[in-house]
Amino acid sequence: MAKNMVEQITNMDEDFAQWYTDVVLKAELVDYSSVRGSMIIRPYGYAIWENIKNALDTEIKATGHENVYMPLLIPESLLQKEKDHIEGFAPEVAWVTHGGDEELAERLCIRPTSEVLFAEHYKNIIHSYRDLPKLYNQWANVVRWEKTTRPFLRTLEFLWQEGHTCHETDQDAHEETVKMLEVYADICERVLAIPVVKGQKTEKEKFAGAKYTYTIESLMHDGKALQSGTSHNLGTGFAKAFGIEFLDRDGKLQTVHQTSWGFTTRIIGAMIMVHGDDKGLVLPPAVAPTQVLVVPIAQHKEGVLDAAYELQKALKSKFRVGIDASDKKPGWKFNESEMKGIPVRLEIGPRDIEENKVVLVRRDTGEKLTVEQQNLETELARLLEDIQKNLYDKALQHRINKTHAVESMEEFKETLAKEGGFIEAMWCGKQACEDRIKEETQATSRCIPFEQERLSETCVCCGEGAEQLVIWAKAY
Ligand SMILES: [Zn+2]
Repeated sequence: MAKNMVEQITNMDEDFAQWYTDVVLKAELVDYSSVRGSMIIRPYGYAIWENIKNALDTEIKATGHENVYMPLLIPESLLQKEKDHIEGFAPEVAWVTHGGDEELAERLCIRPTSEVLFAEHYKNIIHSYRDLPKLYNQWANVVRWEKTTRPFLRTLEFLWQEGHTCHETDQDAHEETVKMLEVYADICERVLAIPVVKGQKTEKEKFAGAKYTYTIESLMHDGKALQSGTSHNLGTGFAKAFGIEFLDRDGKLQTVHQTSWGFTTRIIGAMIMVHGDDKGLVLPPAVAPTQVLVVPIAQHKEGVLDAAYELQKALKSKFRVGIDASDKKPGWKFNESEMKGIPVRLEIGPRDIEENKVVLVRRDTGEKLTVEQQNLETELARLLEDIQKNLYDKALQHRINKTHAVESMEEFKETLAKEGGFIEAMWCGKQACEDRIKEETQATSRCIPFEQERLSETCVCCGEGAEQLVIWAKAY
């Protein structure tokens, strides 16, 4: 029986997409709802999100931002005020047309993002340079009517935070855009143990209405990329469309410079696909709802359960500790804790009690350690730190192994077909080449990395003078 549970997961090298679906369902992260493409985030999945959210919220506030809440509904006229923005989002907007039985005089859209709501509000509350900067953030849900959907990765409705800020100068807006990209990169690398590449989106891939978009890109186990967070310098586009003006230090009327930036529940999908294995989830200790699971062995024997509960109590102030004292067999409990990606399993049985020891088992490597009870707290702290680091190092090594520089289209196609991963190639800067590459290889430009390298002098596609190195990949 215990074995069955694991056998029910598809092998990841056999069918990665099916493996992913199996894991999100079996680890009890989500359930499907009756609306196509919507997901129910179950308590275990939500607890992971809350840990990510808390870590990010702390950094958002530490960098001087305040949380606010904007309405869910946007009048159509408001959405249409910024031309590029509405063009970019129109195909995936959901509309409310009726209130009860009554048809509305103006349709309302369910926010796909809230730039226009913030812009309208900022117009009302910003008058002077003394009102700047305005550094707002909101935690909310948004709706985008996606055609194909997958839990966490692409759903009709998802959770996120969106930051929206106003500044006196373009330089201030630029610095904010960089600062928040760094915050995202730090959350990914330090908390989620996902290494990222930082760079700029091409004109084609940038946010609708932005001056430019910065992004962090990460690489999944199957060699596909995932955009993991974006930070946009909006320039004065929205501010001009909405008339957000202020009197500057010389008493002259100026237009504000804006930014926006977002980080979503997609990142949970990334975390699953970066760290998971054939036994299920592997969670970085920093976000694991349970970091240590105590499993009593031969729990029917006298004193075992008491000792297990005592351990849990003793460790509770330092770690997130769970206990499985159910009547399931230990083998079942082991499999279940592996499926759920719990970083450390702590086994305690009659013999361990007698010898004042416990057995610790790492989820990431399967390694077993016998530890004296008096050293347990120190050992656990060290172990969790080591697991966090090991996950990051492994993911980074994987990305390095799966990053290939190419100099011709032939080499591009061959490498992508054989290896997947990040393809580094020089680009002339013309969208025609970007389009052709996508058409011929299905790879999209992920970013123009900040860390540039001059691989050659010619564009991989047209052979004309190259401007920049671009990272290309098939992406989620
Ligand atoms: Zn070209």
